Order: sequence, then structure tokens, then C-alpha cells
Amino acid sequence: MKLFNIAVPKDSISMILDPAGDVENYNTKIFLHKSKIELAEQDNEFSKHIVLDLDKKNKNEKIMKFMCNQKYGTFLLDFLNADFSTAENAYNTFFVYYGVEGIGSLDDIKRKYPIEYSTRYVSTKKFLDYYSKVYELVSIDYIKYQNDLRKTVDFVFDLHEHKSTKNIDKYSKFMAYSSAINLIGQFYSRISLGMVRSLDKELPNEMSAKQLEKLALDIANKKTRKAIVYVYESTSFFALIYVALNDLIQNTKRNISICQNCGRYYLQYSGKEIYCELPNQDGSPTCKSYASRKAYDIKIVEDTAELAYKREYQRRMTKVYRASEVVKPVMRMEFNSWKDKARKQLKQYRENKITADELCNWLEENK
Ligand SMILES: [Zn+2]
Repeated sequence: MKLFNIAVPKDSISMILDPAGDVENYNTKIFLHKSKIELAEQDNEFSKHIVLDLDKKNKNEKIMKFMCNQKYGTFLLDFLNADFSTAENAYNTFFVYYGVEGIGSLDDIKRKYPIEYSTRYVSTKKFLDYYSKVYELVSIDYIKYQNDLRKTVDFVFDLHEHKSTKNIDKYSKFMAYSSAINLIGQFYSRISLGMVRSLDKELPNEMSAKQLEKLALDIANKKTRKAIVYVYESTSFFALIYVALNDLIQNTKRNISICQNCGRYYLQYSGKEIYCELPNQDGSPTCKSYASRKAYDIKIVEDTAELAYKREYQRRMTKVYRASEVVKPVMRMEFNSWKDKARKQLKQYRENKITADELCNWLEENK
């Protein structure tokens, strides 16, 4: 999706949700505090996103207009998984990415802290002063709304201890639960709806009926991306999160699930995943890659032939490593030649073309 350069005034955040393209876009003002902008893909300016940088010095922090394309569902998941227990945790897990415009309760804020509000981007000190006061004001609302939203999601997607006894569509379950728990009664902000014409190709001035049908067919077959996109703009994250959840339920077949490794909410693609691919703040591998490595290690431990191969490989490599500089080049050549042959044997074993005994014998004979 290209980035839409829509002028977003302070106080609000705007979002575009494009489930078919697996992308969403947000546009707001950000004060880059303890964070920096990175590119997810090199040389692709549309892939810029914010990463937490706790070591960053407070110098040169400033307000900027920020637009970001991210994976569809990220905003909703970030909110569901955020830690709103303290102002600092809330900042590090949520507000750092989306800014404090949209924090809600704007009328209260302006009335209670008019000076802090109008000077909030003057300096880091002013920003933090504003943020801590405002968070104090809204934190109870955030904890309640997140809790209620989690319960709604659990009910709709059959998560945690919830299990449906009847086969009811997700939208009806969403309507039932969110109205019973009164989700929309927890924010009073309006959402303004904008529409942008967004065809990814130029159209001729006049189009024949045949050309129009071709275009409609391209849209139906997703060869052409949605021609009109909706832009939701609000002063309240709560309102936009409701819209995001509603969009997920109404416009996709995808499910939210709970990661069996980290316990976070994540969005499934196929419905068969059990681990998330959410990024970790410390940069460690995702649960999915960690889990597949762990499964691989377990398999190796239980497999005597694989283990024999691994041991022999290690033994030979250590020998090369410890050899004197004089004989090292020769030994390395020997090792490489053994490695090529051994890998062929291992491949045959993995493809069930030779047995475990045969692989072990080969390793023994070629010591
Ligand atoms: Zn996980």
C-alpha cells in the first residue's frame, strides 16, 4: 500500500485498514522519545516503523508527523498485548508506537492541564510531564477497556477458558458481547470517515462497458487493490481499536489466537499455527522460530543416527581447530571432503533411503 499523505491535525490519529493487502496504515504526530525510526526493508521508505530505544539520550527529541505501514492487525494486537500497569510500561509497549494524540479524554485534559497540553512538544521534559499527568488521568480507563476488550476477543474467538457450545458466527458473538459489556460506552469520541480513491493504475478518461467489467473483475480477483479506501480518524484510540476489531471480524476470516509459548494474542493466517511471529522488544527470535528450533533439537536428541553424525562432525571440526598451523590446511581439506560425503549419507538417511544402522556404520568406517 502506498502511504497516504493526509494532513492529520494534532489531537488525532487516522487509520486505514486493508485486510486483503495484509496491511494497515496509521498517520499521526509522534514525539520520538526513547525511540527511533527504522526501515523494515532496506531502501523502502514505505517500510519505516518505530522501534523502542531505551538507551537513547533525550537530546534532539522532537515532534514529527509520522506515517507507518504495518501488518494488518498490529494496532489491535499491540493494544491487546500492551502493559498498562504503569505509565512507563504503557509508554514502552504502546504509546511509543502510536503517540499520545488519541490518548482520549481530551476535554478533561484541556480543562485540567491547559498549559501542559499546549506546551507538550516543546521539550522532552515538557512531554514527559504532560504524559505522566495525562496517563494518571486515563490509566484506569485503559486497564478497564483492555480487560473488557480481551474478554470480548476471548468470547468471539473461543480463547482462554471460553469454549462455544453453539456454532454462532463471530460477528453476532461480537455484537452480543460488546454490547453486554458496553465497549462503546467507554469512549465518547467521534470517528470521522474519509474516503480516498486509491487505484494502483491510471484509468483512461472514458471507459467502455467492457473495460469497466474487466476492472471490476480485477478487483474481484484481487488483481487490482481496493479502489476506494476508508480513512478513520479519531481523537480516541479506544474508538479506533473498536473499528479495527470490527473490521477484522467483518472483513476477514482470520482468527485471533493465544501463543502457546509467550501467551500473547496474535493473528493467525492459516488457523493452524500455535506460535506467534510477533517481534520481541529485546530483538530475540520469534516464538515460531524458537519453537521450530526446539522441536528440531528434541528430534536430534532422540535420533541416535543424527546424534552420531553430529558427534563425529564436532569431533572432526575440533581436531582441525586444534591442529598446528602447519597441518591445518591439509586437515581442513580432509574435513571438507569428509563433510561432503557425510552430508550425502545424512540426506539419504533423512529421505529414508538408508537406515539408521547404515548411516552409523558408514560414520564408523569413515573415521
Ligand atoms: Zn509468542
